[in-house]
Amino acid sequence: MNLAEHSWTDARDAETDLALVPVGSTEQHGPHAPLGVDHMTAEAIAEEAAERYAAEHDDEPVVAPAIPVGVAEEHRAFDGTLWVTEDTFRSYVADICRSLAHHGFDRVVVVNGHGGNTGALREVCGRLTRDGDCYAVPFTWFDVVAPEFELGHGGPTETSLMLHLAPDLVREERYAEAAEGAGHEFGVFVDGTNLAYDFDEFSESGNLADPTPATAAEGERLLASSADACVRVLAAIEEREWTGERERSDD
Ligand SMILES: [Zn+2]
Repeated sequence: MNLAEHSWTDARDAETDLALVPVGSTEQHGPHAPLGVDHMTAEAIAEEAAERYAAEHDDEPVVAPAIPVGVAEEHRAFDGTLWVTEDTFRSYVADICRSLAHHGFDRVVVVNGHGGNTGALREVCGRLTRDGDCYAVPFTWFDVVAPEFELGHGGPTETSLMLHLAPDLVREERYAEAAEGAGHEFGVFVDGTNLAYDFDEFSESGNLADPTPATAAEGERLLASSADACVRVLAAIEEREWTGERERSDD
């Protein structure tokens, strides 16, 4: 149940304590893909996971609106990229999770579509859980499904998912430009030490990896396997003991 599409009385009547919060980024993904890849993919996976969970468990998680801007200053050299500081991001995500918990949706999976958000999300979800606000865990979809496929950035994985979700937003005629200026690894490494902070230090087009092998069918498979993994995480946090109380160790 996407909160943006339902009324407050629907939210009142929702018999669930599960919530999904899609989190992404508005950042360049090469010349062929839109700036919104990371929040569009996160939201699609969250909605698909909510539907699949409801079909299996007779309990439909609520889906918060996607948070469209994250920690992405590393893409600042590429026009149109937006970012917030980690502090802003953490407190914004925390406030949204606390407001969900206020309404009883206090078991939260944050569905993340952007690698740059990962550290801040782990930290803020840990803080919320330890402080008894809600039980929150970050779920970064490509960490779960991408080992089977080359992730890169704006590469075949993300491009496949976009070809499935919003094919009109993918400019296939620009794949060659994307591939030509692509970098080959996520940084500039000397003895395992990354000397680079910004993406343009190792990629001219904004890409890592050639998007050409992308297909809509692969995107459909990635959506399904990401949503299924997310369903398993939802089921696990629903079952897991969490008192939501700060107790003294001698109680
Ligand atoms: Zn991305």
